[in-house]
This record gives sequence, C-alpha cells and structure tokens, in this order.
Amino acid sequence: MSSPIWHPFTQHGLGEPIPLVTHGKGAALHTDDRRRIVDAISSWWVTTHGHGHPRIMAAIAEQAQRLDQIIFAGWTHQPAEDVALGLLAIMPPSLTRVFFSDSGSTSVEVALKMALGHFANRGEPRTHIVVMQHSYHGDTVGGMSVGARGVFSAAYAPLLFDVAVIPFPTAGHEQETLEALEAACRTQPAAFIVEPLVLGAGGMLMYGADTLRAMHAICARHGVLFIADEVMTGWGRTGTLLACEQAEIAPDILCLSKGLTGGSLPLAVTMASEDIYQSHWSTDRARMFFHSSSYTANPIACAAAVANLAIWRDEPVGERVSSLAARQAARLDRLAALPGVADARSLGTIAALDLEVPDAGYLSALAPRLLAQFRDADLLLRPLGNTLYVMPPYCIDDADLDRIYDALGEAVLQTQKSPGIQ
Ligand SMILES: *Cc1c(COP(=O)(O)O)cnc(C)c1O
Repeated sequence: MSSPIWHPFTQHGLGEPIPLVTHGKGAALHTDDRRRIVDAISSWWVTTHGHGHPRIMAAIAEQAQRLDQIIFAGWTHQPAEDVALGLLAIMPPSLTRVFFSDSGSTSVEVALKMALGHFANRGEPRTHIVVMQHSYHGDTVGGMSVGARGVFSAAYAPLLFDVAVIPFPTAGHEQETLEALEAACRTQPAAFIVEPLVLGAGGMLMYGADTLRAMHAICARHGVLFIADEVMTGWGRTGTLLACEQAEIAPDILCLSKGLTGGSLPLAVTMASEDIYQSHWSTDRARMFFHSSSYTANPIACAAAVANLAIWRDEPVGERVSSLAARQAARLDRLAALPGVADARSLGTIAALDLEVPDAGYLSALAPRLLAQFRDADLLLRPLGNTLYVMPPYCIDDADLDRIYDALGEAVLQTQKSPGIQ
C-alpha cells in the first residue's frame, strides 16, 4: 500500500523513492533497509552538533517528565526563562527582548509584524519592506513576499505583498547594491530584511562582511530597521556564532531557529532592540504585540535549546567549526580545479560550487539526476539547481567528508560527460 503522506517540495508523480529513516547518530542516518547515509546537509541545515547529541536528548527526556506544554500568553516556565537569559548573554547586547515562535518562517513573520507595529504605535507612516534579490525567508505568505519570486511562488503571487528589491552584491558590483539600498531607504520603508553573508536557498550565494556592514550603516542613517534573518547562518554555520559578528554589526531585529535547539525540535526566536519593545509597551491593550501560536515556547523544545546553549558554553564548538571549515576548504580546493566547476566558495561550515551547464534553472533535469546519484551513494545531498553544496553537522569525521567530496567529484565528471539537459 502506498503512503498517504504528501511530502514537502516533492513531486510525487516522479515516483522517486522515499527512504524510511529509523535512527540517526552524529553525521549518520540509518534506513530500514540497513543503509548508512551520511547527512551532508545537516537534515536541511538544522543539525549542528550531530544527530542525537546526548545532552540534548537527556534534556528533552527530563523535561518531558515535568511539563509538556503550557499557554505562553500570560504564563511562563523555567526552560523559556533560561533560553531567554542564555541568549541575552551571547547575542548582541542591544537585543534585549526575546519573542518565541516555532519555525524560521514564523520568526520572520514576527519580525515583519514587529517592525510595522513599531512604526504604527509611534504614528510614523513607514509600512513597506526592502529585500535583497535571491533571498529566502520561508514559505509562509509573508516569508514568500519578502523572498525571491519564481516557479515556487508563481501560483501564489496574487497573495504576496509588494516589496522593494535591491540587487544581490555580486563581487565587483557591491556599490550598485549600496546605492540601490540608499535610494530605497529614502522612500521611508519600515525595514530591510536580509540573510547576512550567505543567501541559502538562493544558491549559497556569498557576499562580504564589508558590504553587510555598509548596508547596516545605510539603514541606521535612515532610521530603517535592520532585520537579520540568521535562521540558516546562525549557530556557527558561517564560522562565527552569528554571521553579523563578522561585520561587527548588531541588527535591530534578529531571527533565529534551525540550530537553536541543535536541530532537534522546532523552536524559533525573534530578538528585538529595547526601542521596538518600548513602542509596544503601554497600558493601552490596543498597542500590545498581536501574535501567538499554540506552541509558542514549548517547554520541551525550550529544554533542548537550553541544552544547546550549555553545549556552546561547555564544549569546544568554535574549534569544531573551524576544524570543519579547514577540512572542507582543502577538499573544495581540489574540486575547484576540475573542468566544469565554477565559483567554488566556502564560508565557515558551508562549501558550495556551481556546475557549468547550458541550462541551469531550478527545474532543469540535472538536479533530479544528481539527487538520484547521491542517493545511490548513500549520501543526503540536495543540489540547488546547478549548485552543489555541503553543510554537514560539526561532528562529521574525515572518512565521511571524503565520501561526500568523492561523490561531488564524480558528479562533476558525469556532468562534463553528459550535461543531461533536455
Ligand atoms: C530555513 C529558512 C527559513 C525558514 O525556516 P523554517 O523553519 O523552514 O520555516 C527562513 N529564513 C532562512 C534564511 C532560512 O534558511
């Protein structure tokens, strides 16, 4: 009997196999047909320390004995308080307030609503949002509105709100981006939302810390709120705890999710500056922040986040990240020299390259062929169009890294032989 499940970002009509995973440990996933799969993309960018980290698993088990769930409007619990204080201790000091939600997309929706609520409560007519070309901020309607438009959003376009788009700062064209942002900021937008240093779903596109810093300065000069969507880049992914650190900037609003629980349970936070909180603070109930979801700050998810914060405090996570960065860079260098490889790039634990193919759209025939090739090699790798990238858990060992990079080399050779584009 076939499964009734409708999977995300899956075309069931293609009949591609859907492996059943029974357990996972570290960088490995195991299937019911006894295959050991190397998780080369951290189960879609969430698993930072590896699957089944003992301290996170123990924290979840312990919290499950105490309190499973509690309304968060007007009530609180210790794990949430501990997450909030733990975040304040390591995030930029100007971010003094922590609002919980349950996914990256929701943390973005919350950020956008905070920005508009801030200006509405202050009686300032700032209502539109500036975004960067090729961005991804989630699949909810607000997230899609501030993200890149394409085949994946075309059917829903009538629901999406208008935004001002500035070009991606490709190397050598940074000035155009800055000028476009300057011009956009003169039209009095509420906020600029951006993925710092790496645009993930847009194809692991990377830009420099100088540009990030300059964009932040432009927003500050015009009183435009700077929203950093670090849902993917946070928690060490780019080599530092936050990507913003490399530009020495503090955003007005910060979105975190994915690695917040080490990638074990769904949880997100939107952190805000005191100003934004204060413009909602009042005895007038009409000025409160009107947002909640049923599982806001779920205690078990918060306990996992508390354990993640403890791991960052007690274990050499920074060293693991830099070791992984160096080990990947060495392997990427070897691939970069192969014919048919363009723009090999890496930052922190993220490594990417583009395959030179004649037609490289999101729906090109290349991606499913590569996906099948990697599946056959027992690797969880998921190309973005013609972009191959690796973003493993920080605990991955050299043998597993070699398996990944050998398969990438093989994919480059295969694509050279037959680009496979119909
Ligand atoms: C994954 C991602 C999101 C959405 O997070 P979900 O938890 O999948 O809703 C938002 N922004 C960025 C930058 C992301 O990478």
